[in-house]
Amino acid sequence: MSGFTVAIVGRPNVGKSTLFNRLLEQRKAIVDDVSGVTRDRQYGIAEWNGKTFNVIDTGGFVANSEDVFEREIRKQVKIAMEEANVLLFMCDVTTGITDLDADVADLLRRSSKPVFLVVNKVDNSERQLEAAEFYSLGFDKLFFLSSISGSGTGELLDEVAALITDDAEQAGQADAELPKIAIIGQPNVGKSSLLNALIGEERNIVSDIPGTTRDTIHTHYKLFQKDFVLIDTAGVRRKARVHEDLEFYSVIRAIKAMDEADVCMLLLDAAKGITAQDLSIFSLAVRKGKGMVILVNKWDLVEKETNTARDYEKELKQRLAPFSDVPIVFTSVLQKQRIFKAIEEALRVYDNRQRKIPTSRLNDVMLKAIEAYHPPVVRGTPIRIKYVTQLPTHTPAFAFFCNLPDDVKQPYKNYLENQLRANFDFEGVPVKLFFRKK
Ligand code: GDP
Ligand code: GDP
Repeated sequence: MSGFTVAIVGRPNVGKSTLFNRLLEQRKAIVDDVSGVTRDRQYGIAEWNGKTFNVIDTGGFVANSEDVFEREIRKQVKIAMEEANVLLFMCDVTTGITDLDADVADLLRRSSKPVFLVVNKVDNSERQLEAAEFYSLGFDKLFFLSSISGSGTGELLDEVAALITDDAEQAGQADAELPKIAIIGQPNVGKSSLLNALIGEERNIVSDIPGTTRDTIHTHYKLFQKDFVLIDTAGVRRKARVHEDLEFYSVIRAIKAMDEADVCMLLLDAAKGITAQDLSIFSLAVRKGKGMVILVNKWDLVEKETNTARDYEKELKQRLAPFSDVPIVFTSVLQKQRIFKAIEEALRVYDNRQRKIPTSRLNDVMLKAIEAYHPPVVRGTPIRIKYVTQLPTHTPAFAFFCNLPDDVKQPYKNYLENQLRANFDFEGVPVKLFFRKK
């Protein structure tokens, strides 16, 4: 998918999260609440007219005074202006234009990105008339909606989807054939140190390739006789960024790097363990079908006994469930321990993600597994899976042809996925299972 990003901005209570939920839920897309610490901030993937894009609800925050409140909104709007491809500026027809709306409008008028003014809570025709006052804010594109009922959202999505050009989809195709590995993780886990350790090996760098956005840097490496591209977020190098402290910022950056990558190296701080936000980033990457490797960095800081790594890994995998078939590498970037091992693992995951299992072999193995443990009987009828094939998709996906595709339940799907993983190496790679009527 492209890294096209839509941000919904506006003051609290105008209906941002209501719209967000509608955009995602209606399309049966995925809602990822990466909010961990910050309340209500939401990131998700939406789909419209066959185009997929990220949606950010800049959401709520807890502020105790008017000043803090205004400052926070301004900050979020500025970040959204930098990071998003299009901004949905939401207002509320029932309150009319407030001072804060006018302030936000002032900021947004300076944006080089398209801004759509979305007047919400236009639930009936009477309000439609009242909504006309919003033309005075001076934006070209106005949309009147009722997020609660969904009326007007189709027109808005049509316009958003129209902005997603094939150019955006194909950007970054110059390095399309090379494995692309993104370095992601929260501030201070060691991302720039890792990059510097690798860049230190100047001779390994082939060239810098511009990323699809100015916020990511792609560097072409040659190591272990292999070519690959490392993607880092520009913020990693430009340490003095104003917004560097903001979690919001680091999450958006991670999502961008992720979108451009085949495999993500997610760095954790060994001393802190995996946080709720790490887990959200992880699950978002998994849902995007990205290969994953986890680097438990700063391993030098952890006091070790005989089984420390083993126990740590076991516990970590429990947190990663249901997708725990992921390589975990204990690194110390500071002491240059296992850095290259981490790259090797990422390249191995890349290969796993490309894996195509011949149909005959797949059926040999899987039909045997199905024979050994049948799906449960539904309303007196046995479920019969006749045939399995790998779909010609970018990331591994398998279609199981059977008589009652809708009745195959999660536990049995888990069994099938485990069998696939036990017999073929998909370590680090999310796989999808589909059930179809034969
Ligand atoms: P946010 O703070 O901007 O994310 O706003 P919310 O999505 O939490 O919505 C604030 C309130 O407005 C909630 O009580 C919603 O139910 C309500 N709301 C949202 N959209 C609409 C709408 O289209 N019409 C009406 N009447 N109420 C809405
Ligand atoms: P970033 O914000 O993720 O790019 O993190 P940095 O690379 O700036 O690292 C943050 C801090 O952690 C710096 O002081 C690094 O020296 C330190 N650091 C990075 N890797 C390690 C490591 O493996 N062990 C220890 N002890 N410190 C590390």
